[in-house]
Amino acid sequence: MTKEIATPSRTREIMDKHHLSFKKSLGQNFMLDGNILNKMVDATEVTAEDGIIEVGAGIGALTEKFAKRAKKVVAFEIDRRFIPVLADTLSAYDNIDVRHQDILQADVQELFTTTFNDVRHVIAVGNLPYYVTTPILMGFLEQKLPIQSLTVMIQKEVGERLAAFPGTKAYGSLSIAAQYYAETEEIMTVPATVFMPRPNVDSTIIRFRIRNQPAVHVEDERLFFDLIRAAFAQRRKTLSNNLRHWLGQKEFEADLQEVFHLADMDGKRRAETLTLAEFAVLADVLSKKGL
Ligand code: SAM
Repeated sequence: MTKEIATPSRTREIMDKHHLSFKKSLGQNFMLDGNILNKMVDATEVTAEDGIIEVGAGIGALTEKFAKRAKKVVAFEIDRRFIPVLADTLSAYDNIDVRHQDILQADVQELFTTTFNDVRHVIAVGNLPYYVTTPILMGFLEQKLPIQSLTVMIQKEVGERLAAFPGTKAYGSLSIAAQYYAETEEIMTVPATVFMPRPNVDSTIIRFRIRNQPAVHVEDERLFFDLIRAAFAQRRKTLSNNLRHWLGQKEFEADLQEVFHLADMDGKRRAETLTLAEFAVLADVLSKKGL
């Protein structure tokens, strides 16, 4: 049996064999620690009945781990140079479908009625490229894809924001969006030393278990997220100040005192102190007022 891909010597050997260098602009920091990848695979609770969507296959370090445990793996990779490499490193597996595509342009929804029509659950995974972590995560969550969970390796600082609670510095629109769609759990910290090339910061593995229904019901989802963005526009300002500015831009006439009264909320609070449920109440009051 060939040695696993996720080791320093094999990664170097594969890159040299194909005369390749790492592209920083595409977030190419490859994993060198097979044990950490095994823990990531375990965290997904994947079975031989499940389908996997992997974002950013690279030279296949994580792809091969899932190919051993899942029914099928669809692995997206934006960098054309790695397509022949993957055909080489993953040649022992017949359950992997490598797609040379930007995940942000891909029709992921289509996979559920075709490739994944005979699997139990679909699980999304990836050691995500730093430069597009948030759009990739939000894309998966907002599209309401029928995935069971999403387990990703991301920059530690982004992970902290995703899992943050009200009243903390890391809490913001990203924390609220994640909590709205999923139950978020930090699995483990991953030191910068186990990547090639070594990034400047540590990473973390986060698991999102997708909720069947969003955590709160809101009348108008778009308004809800617009409100959250507006409320955090200037973190140090009060809710009242931020909302006055936002509503002014929308040329919407509202008696903010009355809005806060109906929502049973003090407008002098800052956005970072509001829970998801409180944002939902505020959004519904504004919706009833015709915004
Ligand atoms: N999975 C490998 C590993 O764990 O070692 C590689 C992870 S590396 C952090 C991220 C990978 O995502 C790179 O191979 C990069 O080329 C690819 N990538 C970057 N942007 C992408 C995009 N928009 N769509 C698909 N793949 C992308």
